[in-house]
Amino acid sequence: SQAHHQLHVIFFPFMAQGHLIPSIDMAKLFASKGSKVTILTTSYFTPFLSKKIENSAQIDIFNIRVPAAEVGLPEGIDSAHAVGTPEMMEKFFKACGKLGPQLDQILERHRPVCLVADMFFPWATDVAAKFGIPTLLFPGTCYFALCGSRSVFLHEPHKKVSSDLEPFILPNFPDQVEFTASRVPHFMRHDDSTELTKLFKAMTEVEFKSYGVLVNSFYELEPAYADHYRKVLGRKAWNIGPLFLYNKGSNSDEHECLKWLDSKKPNSVVYVSFGSMANFDDEQLKEIATGLEASGQQFVWVVKKEKKEGVKEEWLPEGFEERIKGKGLIIRGWAPQVPILEHEAVGGFVTHCGWNSTQESVCAGVPMVTWPIAAEQFFNEKLVTQILRVGVEVGAKKWKRLVGDFVKRDAIDRAVSRVMEGEEAEEMRSRVKRLAEMARSAVKEGGSSVLDLNALFDDLKSAHYSSYENLH
Ligand code: UDP
Repeated sequence: SQAHHQLHVIFFPFMAQGHLIPSIDMAKLFASKGSKVTILTTSYFTPFLSKKIENSAQIDIFNIRVPAAEVGLPEGIDSAHAVGTPEMMEKFFKACGKLGPQLDQILERHRPVCLVADMFFPWATDVAAKFGIPTLLFPGTCYFALCGSRSVFLHEPHKKVSSDLEPFILPNFPDQVEFTASRVPHFMRHDDSTELTKLFKAMTEVEFKSYGVLVNSFYELEPAYADHYRKVLGRKAWNIGPLFLYNKGSNSDEHECLKWLDSKKPNSVVYVSFGSMANFDDEQLKEIATGLEASGQQFVWVVKKEKKEGVKEEWLPEGFEERIKGKGLIIRGWAPQVPILEHEAVGGFVTHCGWNSTQESVCAGVPMVTWPIAAEQFFNEKLVTQILRVGVEVGAKKWKRLVGDFVKRDAIDRAVSRVMEGEEAEEMRSRVKRLAEMARSAVKEGGSSVLDLNALFDDLKSAHYSSYENLH
């Protein structure tokens, strides 16, 4: 019967917004192709997730529990956002590594046709293999960063220079791209025995064991890197992004900042936000405030700090909020990022280069000021500034998880002005607008991402039917 042949796919994203958001888009996409989908997540994300899936009959949520106390974290910590320090982050990854038994039970009970597991859970491939279930890996980043991190990890160019800031060229890489040891994440350095170093090693190995890799990017954005990853590095991969473009228009609550933007001229506001993880200290926040004010540009700035009535906020310069009235808007907490970037008043984006933010900016046709902090963000910066030439660097040079490299007000002022005004800004804007059009074509009937997705589904169906026939 039909029901027998409905594909059931289980998604197992890492517990952070930057991984969950594209996974929800992917789950909806799979559901739109007739699959039944289950998303595994923790209670921290359940309300957010329920809202996003809007009672879809084809999508279920299944709660898992991170064994935080077993690794010495406070009981109940079940998201990367609840983690305040790099040390806690190590422990959080360690706790995630203990989710195997829960996954085992779920897979045994549900026997999905495949598991889409976050690349941060490389061990999940072995768990699924026990039941003959193929695993698709979701790395949450672009081909460029995948190739870049493999280049560094496999060839260790950072060990052949005499200082952390001495440039080297990324080896076995399609373009001549300069990088420095200071930008290399510590877990790619082979020189420590942290949880993440072991994890990263496992991540580079599991690419060969799994069924393949799902990349949230589109071919036309980075053709040399899509080809390099598949043909030279020999990984099996499908580019099926930009995922968020498949699901636009849903959940669009009118946020007050969108009304504020309505009153502004096209390309006259810079949007400043550093994703869901970054955690700048007061000194850096104050420097950003001063730099933005000095630039003279209008801005929307997302600050992940709650306002406490009657308490003086150290990071806010004296009289700042008064002075910027009408000109700048501070959003506390969660901002509707995609609608903001797509608003015609927004002409630039100061970003930490998280892959989702970067791709959202490209799709909205908005040039960037790149301010990478951690993870693979320094690679994404190079893609934006050197390969695509749709952004300028603010000048952050050091990989530093959660807190970033300190950037001074003058550098902020200069980079913001460069991206908002003048000929260079216009050139970047027209280049990024062409990329935005290519992104839209990629997810249309006959587009590169749609073709890759169809090919993946054909593969999955034939794998499913052959195992179905074996069973009966
Ligand atoms: N985001 C948002 N509002 C916020 C902060 C983040 O909508 O206030 C979304 C953003 O649009 C993106 C995701 O959260 O889709 C962040 O992912 P990214 O890869 O850019 O960075 P991360 O948070 O993983 O560092």
